[in-house]
Amino acid sequence: MTGVHLYRHLDEMAPWNDRLQVLEVAGIVDEAPEVKTFTFRSDAQTWFRYKPGQFITLELPTADGPLMRTYTLASSPSRPFSISITVKAQAGSIGTRWMFDNLKRGSRIKARGPAGDFSHHNHAAGKYLFISAGSGITPMMSMLRWLNDCAPWTDIAFVNCARRPEEIIFRKELELLGANMPGLSLGFMIEERSSRESWFGHMGRIDAVRLPLLSPDFHEREVFCCGPDPFMRAVRTMLEATGFDMAHYHQESFGAPPVEIPPPATTEAGAVVPAEATVPVRFASSNVDGQCVPGQTVLQAARASGVRISAACEFGLCGTCRVRKVSGDVEMNHNGGILDEEIAEGYILACCSKPLTALEIEA
Ligand SMILES: Cc1cc2nc3c(=O)[nH]c(=O)nc-3n(C[C@H](O)[C@H](O)[C@H](O)COP(=O)(O)OP(=O)(O)OC[C@H]3O[C@@H](n4cnc5c(N)ncnc54)[C@H](O)[C@@H]3O)c2cc1C
Repeated sequence: MTGVHLYRHLDEMAPWNDRLQVLEVAGIVDEAPEVKTFTFRSDAQTWFRYKPGQFITLELPTADGPLMRTYTLASSPSRPFSISITVKAQAGSIGTRWMFDNLKRGSRIKARGPAGDFSHHNHAAGKYLFISAGSGITPMMSMLRWLNDCAPWTDIAFVNCARRPEEIIFRKELELLGANMPGLSLGFMIEERSSRESWFGHMGRIDAVRLPLLSPDFHEREVFCCGPDPFMRAVRTMLEATGFDMAHYHQESFGAPPVEIPPPATTEAGAVVPAEATVPVRFASSNVDGQCVPGQTVLQAARASGVRISAACEFGLCGTCRVRKVSGDVEMNHNGGILDEEIAEGYILACCSKPLTALEIEA
């Protein structure tokens, strides 16, 4: 995107299609320590159609081969000409660090999606409680930005937790929205003071005493929660203990780190698995006959056989590892990354499917 772009009306443009277009970096902004926002446009002047809170999966072309990483769109579909993701590089990060080091304005990158169910559009309510920690603020920000553009009078309690004041992502924008949206009440909570930014707000961790201080009527709200798994577990446990109706609780997990896979012919303890306990898996497009040891997923068996199936979240959410099953049965425990229609058409998610019988898949 180097030249000057003339404005085109939305109805003169087609929506983004992940099979036909790639993303082009339009801007990169530092948000907080080790946190950056990447804004993308389509390389073909298309617009982006998604629900606030949905995610995309980027294909990062690293020197060691393509790496799939899933990121929530922090932007709002009410501004459909671009999308943005806000990403935090954890210690030892490979994918996110690659983006920090390699993506520049004008870089082009393949992406899949948007996808995902975590959106207030799926659970419309009169009052919301958004509760997030760390980079888990991104889906809340997308929903809040949408509400600011399209329903600014909405009653929203927004509670955000961070380690230190300077690690609160989007703090200035949130304060500005708090001044402009009459129904928005903001509550920040930090764990440690810091010499870099002053702090006069709440300190400690969110618990059954602090939550009612930040949102006294939380029982009446549709709750959306996102953050590290221990944080979400604590919020869940706390709400359950107060008798909160958990049908009104929704959470998004950013997932567990990938686990190294044992080779197919041995158990995790290293013992050789008897041949009769393994299940044959044929990877038809690769013309490879593999084996799945008890407990292994189809994705793990593919890797052990040298067959590449693209995967990102690896817990049945992002849908990247969707493959068609030609024959055989699997037990699939997904987290919403595949539609019922797709299952009826014979598709499975390789990361969360374990063979029950001999299997043939298109991979
Ligand atoms: C639906 C969904 C939405 C997501 N949205 C965002 C988002 O908006 N912003 C964002 O920054 N990330 C988001 N993630 C997480 C993101 O996909 C990556 O898992 C995360 O950025 C780590 O990838 P990496 O390449 O940086 O690190 P990796 O190279 O995968 O791992 C490097 C190090 O980070 C640790 N690690 C791996 N994954 C995580 C994790 N999720 N949390 C903490 N430590 C981890 C590993 O143990 C390892 O030490 C989302 C994930 C999902 C499934």
